[in-house]
Amino acid sequence: MPKLPHVTTSIFTVMSKMAAEHNAINLSQGFPNFPVNKKLTEIVARLAKEDVHQYTPMSGYPPLLNKIAKLTLQSYGRSVDPETEILVTTGATQGIFTAIQALVKNEDEVIILDPSYDSYKPNVLLSNGIPVRISLNDNYSTNWDLVEKACNENTKMIIITNPHNPTGKILSLADIEKLEAILEKFPNIILLSDEVYEYISFEQKLISVNTRKLLRNRAVIASSFGKTFHVTGWKVGYLIAPEYLMKEIKKVHQFLVFSVNSIAQAAISEYLDQTSVDEISAFYQQKRDYFQQLLSGSRFELMPCEGTYFQVVSYKTISDENDVDFCKRLITEHGVAAIPISTFYENGKDLKLIRFCFAKTDATLEEATRRLCKI
Ligand code: GLN
Repeated sequence: MPKLPHVTTSIFTVMSKMAAEHNAINLSQGFPNFPVNKKLTEIVARLAKEDVHQYTPMSGYPPLLNKIAKLTLQSYGRSVDPETEILVTTGATQGIFTAIQALVKNEDEVIILDPSYDSYKPNVLLSNGIPVRISLNDNYSTNWDLVEKACNENTKMIIITNPHNPTGKILSLADIEKLEAILEKFPNIILLSDEVYEYISFEQKLISVNTRKLLRNRAVIASSFGKTFHVTGWKVGYLIAPEYLMKEIKKVHQFLVFSVNSIAQAAISEYLDQTSVDEISAFYQQKRDYFQQLLSGSRFELMPCEGTYFQVVSYKTISDENDVDFCKRLITEHGVAAIPISTFYENGKDLKLIRFCFAKTDATLEEATRRLCKI
């Protein structure tokens, strides 16, 4: 019996592959296509000649751990101990897997909010946990009453994604307070907060779990340098968690990856002194606004985008095909790739919505929308 009988190749891989085969503009999988900052590439080139090619300590390159602690203090006013509360991971995906593997046991229930990022459920199943999936409302707000009703003595973890992928939604203060109230009622539940788009929020600013005293002492928070510094292929992210949780997470990490790519860690560590995360939101807000403006002449209906570099659109006035077929046809007939939202739901709920990634050069956005406006 296979361990994951219902899991197939991830929709990101499927759509990126199909986009390449048909030479389509790939707005599906989320990755930037503009050059990374020259300072970063220069640091890498120089470091390649230095002594940074052997294992780093298991939990991360020590200067990078210190810089992450500094960044967390600057961004969120939270002091974290670099030795005991931070773990550098091979991307947030590995961090999230490792945290679930370390903390979720046989029959533990894990609450996942749909549409949910595709790795969560298989991660829980591989820990022999039970995924309990709760749909967000159709406007992507969270029904906290449903979340609370789902909590019981077997609930081990609630996973939130904030800013939310695929919808671009950000939890409001009222949302965070409701979550706090639930966790106060259920003191054994751990929070896993996937905040990989933490530095990309627009009119509504992110309230990181790092800033919430009630939550952070029982939370694992996942961050991504891939997203923050436009280097998704480097696969470097990190987790922050209180020591009692981190101790368990490190036990798994040491046998899964041992330590993360040394030169990438050293480069990010240096780069953190030469850059600021403060301009990232404004940079992407300009891209979002431009993409929205270019799409306004199309028949697609734009959904709100509060954060992330994803824009969800409805195609319901264009076609009544299911969203997977529509995305395939978008590639083969119109030369643009997107991600169908139904694949993020347990029951494949099809609201005729698809997701575009706007982390692209203006020229790419212009050509893609020229094609989309003709449909
Ligand atoms: N996080 C990326 C996205 O949402 C995908 C990463 C991946 O393919 N694993 O598009």
